[in-house]
Amino acid sequence: MNRHHEVVIIGSGPAGYSAGIYAARNGNKPLIITGMEFGGQITKSFDLENYPGFTEKIDGLYLTEQMRKQAEIFGAEILADTVVEADLKNRPFTLKTENGDVVTADAVIIATGASCRTLGLSNEKALTGHGVSYCATCDGFFFRDKEVFVVGGGNTAVYEALHLSTVCKKVTVIHRRDHFTAENINQKHFFDMSNCSVIWNSTLEEIVEKDGKVSAVKVKNVQTGDVTEYATEGVFIAIGNKPNTDIFAGQIKLDDAGYIQTKPNLCATEVEGVFAAGDVKNPHFKQVVIAAASGAQAAMEATEYLLSNK
Ligand SMILES: Cc1cc2nc3c(=O)[nH]c(=O)nc-3n(C[C@H](O)[C@H](O)[C@H](O)COP(=O)(O)OP(=O)(O)OC[C@H]3O[C@@H](n4cnc5c(N)ncnc54)[C@H](O)[C@@H]3O)c2cc1C
Repeated sequence: MNRHHEVVIIGSGPAGYSAGIYAARNGNKPLIITGMEFGGQITKSFDLENYPGFTEKIDGLYLTEQMRKQAEIFGAEILADTVVEADLKNRPFTLKTENGDVVTADAVIIATGASCRTLGLSNEKALTGHGVSYCATCDGFFFRDKEVFVVGGGNTAVYEALHLSTVCKKVTVIHRRDHFTAENINQKHFFDMSNCSVIWNSTLEEIVEKDGKVSAVKVKNVQTGDVTEYATEGVFIAIGNKPNTDIFAGQIKLDDAGYIQTKPNLCATEVEGVFAAGDVKNPHFKQVVIAAASGAQAAMEATEYLLSNK
């Protein structure tokens, strides 16, 4: 089917739905193309407790379902499909979807997020939210005064470890090399913390599960092959994120890691009429409240762009 919308939003996470609410209330009749993950990454969390306005823990799926309904109430349309091809060089912009739809748009908001890199261990997915985490800011509090492990050795891992060191009793980083690749200043902060330590030349071999939760980790020394088991309730995988921007490569400016580059303090990209919101443009502060705010800003910028190009 061919269809045209003033604003098309790619992605149905907090950034996409928030952009949908704002664009719809601005009268831009947006279409939100959801992608495979309805509601985005936060739907993996049942224990969201840092989104303002709720005094009890909430389920991420519940929150994003409310966002979706709110966007629909104001007139946003939802297309359950995935964009597989984008032409952002010609106007109107053209998006092709997996199911064969062709959608044209005067303005596009990209809110496709960034996926956490996983280790690929057999029970890693099942234990996510049950002791396995990819976000210290999100889940560190659940391990208050406990001993936790962090896997990785770059900036992400060292940041995560530093964050955890403020709430956890002990933080041990497992790193496959004999040195960190994180920036020196972050390494200095890490080694200054009395409750942070590192197991060098080692990988996470196995996550041990008991009653559906993490109970220990098995760590393998890559030089000797020795495997040691450590009791713990929490393991944070911090080996980076991959922004979902492959389909935009060569059409908009991406940084070395693949994040969309926008103009300073704006969601506008260097392609007029194309905006980016949420984790897909934010290598550092990946949080629902930030993504939602960014989606709102992108929609407001898109409305201004449409008005000035009428
Ligand atoms: C396990 C876990 C727990 C977390 N806990 C918290 C927490 O407690 N508090 C907090 O604030 N944050 C938390 N976060 C972080 C939070 O989920 C993200 O910061 C937030 O979801 C980012 O929103 P987003 O809309 O930018 O991207 P995402 O939520 O990643 O959404 C991206 C959307 O884009 C869609 N998409 C991707 N490619 C395409 C395509 N080609 N075509 C169409 N659609 C596409 C996907 O289907 C998805 O709907 C957690 C993250 C994880 C993984």
